[in-house]
Amino acid sequence: MNKVFSNWAGNIQISPEEIAYPTNEEQVSDIVKRAEKLGKTVRVVGSAHSWTALFDTNQILVSLDKMQGLISTNGLDATVWGGTKLKALGELLYNEGLAMENLGDIDVQAIAGAASTGTHGTGIEFRSISNQICKIRMVTGGGEIVECSFEENPELFDACRVSLGSMGIITQITLRCVKAYTLTYKAEKENLFQCLDRLDEYNTSTRNFEFYYFPHSETVQTKFINKTENAPVKDGFGRYFNDVILENKIFGTFCEIGRIFPSTAIGVAKIAAFAVGTSSKTNLSHRIFATLRDVRFNEMEYNIPAQNFKEAITRVKKYIEDEKVKVTFPIECRFVKSDNIYLSPAYQRESAYLSFHMYKGMPHQEYFSKIEKIMHEYEGRPHWGKMHNVKSDYLKKRYPKWDEFLSFREKLDPKQTFINPYLKELFGI
Ligand SMILES: Cc1cc2nc3c(=O)[nH]c(=O)nc-3n(C[C@H](O)[C@H](O)[C@H](O)COP(=O)(O)OP(=O)(O)OC[C@H]3O[C@@H](n4cnc5c(N)ncnc54)[C@H](O)[C@@H]3O)c2cc1C
Repeated sequence: MNKVFSNWAGNIQISPEEIAYPTNEEQVSDIVKRAEKLGKTVRVVGSAHSWTALFDTNQILVSLDKMQGLISTNGLDATVWGGTKLKALGELLYNEGLAMENLGDIDVQAIAGAASTGTHGTGIEFRSISNQICKIRMVTGGGEIVECSFEENPELFDACRVSLGSMGIITQITLRCVKAYTLTYKAEKENLFQCLDRLDEYNTSTRNFEFYYFPHSETVQTKFINKTENAPVKDGFGRYFNDVILENKIFGTFCEIGRIFPSTAIGVAKIAAFAVGTSSKTNLSHRIFATLRDVRFNEMEYNIPAQNFKEAITRVKKYIEDEKVKVTFPIECRFVKSDNIYLSPAYQRESAYLSFHMYKGMPHQEYFSKIEKIMHEYEGRPHWGKMHNVKSDYLKKRYPKWDEFLSFREKLDPKQTFINPYLKELFGI
């Protein structure tokens, strides 16, 4: 029997006939050539931190876990292997005096996996991880090696930086970094409406601002991250207590109570809102961005135009309260600058992202699909790696460069070696 391979959330379980761990580009190319000859599908996986069936295959699954690390640096540019995990990447760059200008919430993804779904953090002056790339090298259909950058094949570059592993296997990524820097983080408890009134001020005066809204309450936890000249401070017991015990262990236990006794879920949500505290820390940028996510959950995230954000979150709050939705997890709200990557959810619009979580084991379908309808009224674009219910007919309307993307994809993978049933439906091919 084939080995079962599961994603982080456990909702995708697959049994590929082969899991390949190439150690160099030549081996990656050979795998693709062999698959093409045999008419087999190849899907590439990073850290399996997506919820969607992107890497689903019963044929050949490729992992670049043995292709990690720094290849070279040139000024602020650093070339790394596609399989490099973000946590290791942060330290490798720091040793060279460099850092990524922005990151998401966790640091366990592979750089190519994170970029391929448009993984983002927050900050109205900052774009997603894919936007911090200045050159890509990949193995496309037929085992060909193709390079693209801002200068070389620029249209392909805009098409492939978010391409869900459907154009080829990204072996090398050159990142345009910034000089290493230190950040100070401050979390506070506030009222939702006060936060919404001050949202523009918070966004413009903070390098990376975000907030979590706690359902069944008017409470938010605001998070302000700014650059500092102060030295990093080693995490003490207080930090451990807040990040590990409070935000993960105790919160997880309460969520479990809400799962086993659903009638308590709304009460649990209210306790979570009541328990929101303040905290602060100062550390190297990549260590500040990364948080621990020990409690398992399902998630849907939508990008909507920033100008619709306040109305949208207010409607979401009303829906949750009116329908007495049994949800114990807060909603994460982030803000991101527009970009020009064909399949980036932030394509040519200043964006707000709203992430909806449901504790693992609690029903999420109705909650997510009702919220999804609200998001669609604002021309919402789903996060590619997170749960959603849309297919090509909807996506085609949301992405002006949809057809151009698909025609590049077709050129690079004419035999559809990188296409699984999920992508077939998603792309409408
Ligand atoms: C706890 C948690 C927290 C998260 N926080 C955030 C967040 O803050 N912000 C955010 O935007 N997202 C977030 N995500 C979503 C996550 O960043 C994305 O789903 C991301 O794609 C996962 O990276 P991965 O390495 O696990 O890739 P996988 O999930 O393994 O793969 C994702 C896609 O990338 C492709 N891929 C992987 N490697 C390659 C390669 N070498 N070449 C070409 N394609 C490749 C795969 O084929 C697949 O299509 C979070 C997810 C979890 C579980």
